[in-house]
Amino acid sequence: MAEVPEEQVRTPTKAGKTVQQGIDATGEGRAARRDEAVRAAVRQGLLGHGVVGLLDVTGIRESAAELRAAFEAVSAPGAPVLHAFAVKATPLVPVLRLLHEAGIGAEVASPGELALARAAGVPPDRIVLDSPAKTPQELREALLLGIAVNADNPQELARIDAAVRAAPSPAPLGLRVNPQIGGGTIEATSTATETSKFGVALRDEGAREWVVRAYLDRPWLTRLHAHTGSQGIPLSLMARGAAETYGLAEEINARAGRRQVDTLDIGGGLPVNFYSDATTPTYAQYARLLREEVPGLFDGRYGLVTEFGRSLLAKHGTTLARVEYAKSAGGRRVAVTHAGVQVAARTVYVPGAWPLRIAAYDAEGRPKTGPEVVQDIAGPACFSGDLLAQARALPLLEQGDHAAALDTGAYCFASHYAYNSLFRPGIYGFAPDGAGGVAFVTVREPQTVEEIVSESGGAHVTALTTLGASPRR
Ligand SMILES: *Cc1c(COP(=O)(O)O)cnc(C)c1O
Repeated sequence: MAEVPEEQVRTPTKAGKTVQQGIDATGEGRAARRDEAVRAAVRQGLLGHGVVGLLDVTGIRESAAELRAAFEAVSAPGAPVLHAFAVKATPLVPVLRLLHEAGIGAEVASPGELALARAAGVPPDRIVLDSPAKTPQELREALLLGIAVNADNPQELARIDAAVRAAPSPAPLGLRVNPQIGGGTIEATSTATETSKFGVALRDEGAREWVVRAYLDRPWLTRLHAHTGSQGIPLSLMARGAAETYGLAEEINARAGRRQVDTLDIGGGLPVNFYSDATTPTYAQYARLLREEVPGLFDGRYGLVTEFGRSLLAKHGTTLARVEYAKSAGGRRVAVTHAGVQVAARTVYVPGAWPLRIAAYDAEGRPKTGPEVVQDIAGPACFSGDLLAQARALPLLEQGDHAAALDTGAYCFASHYAYNSLFRPGIYGFAPDGAGGVAFVTVREPQTVEEIVSESGGAHVTALTTLGASPRR
């Protein structure tokens, strides 16, 4: 399939709405584009094994533009800001490339994520490496390439000391701290709790002084990093995390008698609204709150790095699945679809924390109407908890219809879970085709059964039965 030319992406949609950047806060334009894409995906036979991931290219560009505009509006003119997309949210090379061309860099946390960012053409000076378990090999590679690294702990800093002694690095280097200001509504994504595994726990006895000394002893340590958490962290707590980071940088610089810390990395974590099409909170709201609470962040003395993931991509992804069977059990209607734990692991295992909206479409991919019926939307995996939604009131889904899990562009279909050896679905990007229709491009091919066999040890069929039976190979 051909690339979608830039000018076509800006063509009005069939619904007659030209969505300009920043004015689609209700998500109306996005919802209209989604309905058209679902219809076209069904018509063009994109569902393959019964499930597909769809990415709204127009929407991703809008969010990238909103993020940049929000921080530009509150920053001193010319102040450097790097928005580094948290690759774990949507680890897909074409997405990283789209964001790169929209002015967004990459935050990586594993050798695989770094390789994805580099494959997308993101230059080293637009990449930030954070992760709690970097190996010496990873650190050496990053320092050699000039990729910014935030050390997580004293032992990692000692490894960087050795590497810097061996060969000075062009990479900007920093330290991650945990301000220990508390968690949000989801424990698993709260990173600034008392006992979080991330960063140097700033309020532990002696820790703050240790951090200040660590900087005074290392003139090349010029960045400071904190990420307060993801989804479920209130904006006020995120702002407090940034304020703590800023306060510590001011203290270090005062003690150093110079502006040693020149860049603050305030992490990501803007929560996403999973209950309607509206984008709330917005980047603009967060940037304004930050400016009110921590004005010194924006007066031009510090460069800024942000690391948003979910808020850039979640609302631009739709998981579309065919209803293979519709049945009834104990009076409950159940639609058995091809989307379950493999594409929405968090929702299936912790449904209370990670609810997803479901939209009902008919066999042709048109929005389904009719009286709402309480039903379960089940996935294909062999355990009874494999449900995308339980007791949800929707127009009755029947065999051959389609169910769409909305807002799944981050941490869902791009983070496949291999339970039951279910296929990784194909992922397609869509945009208006310029002629009143929808154009698709392949972002990731659907997985084949041959690939499943090969990734499951297919090349080593007799490895275990021959072990010990003959001399070791
Ligand atoms: C996960 C993560 C992010 C992104 O969080 P979102 O909630 O997706 O914005 C940013 N920085 C670090 C260090 C992370 O671990």
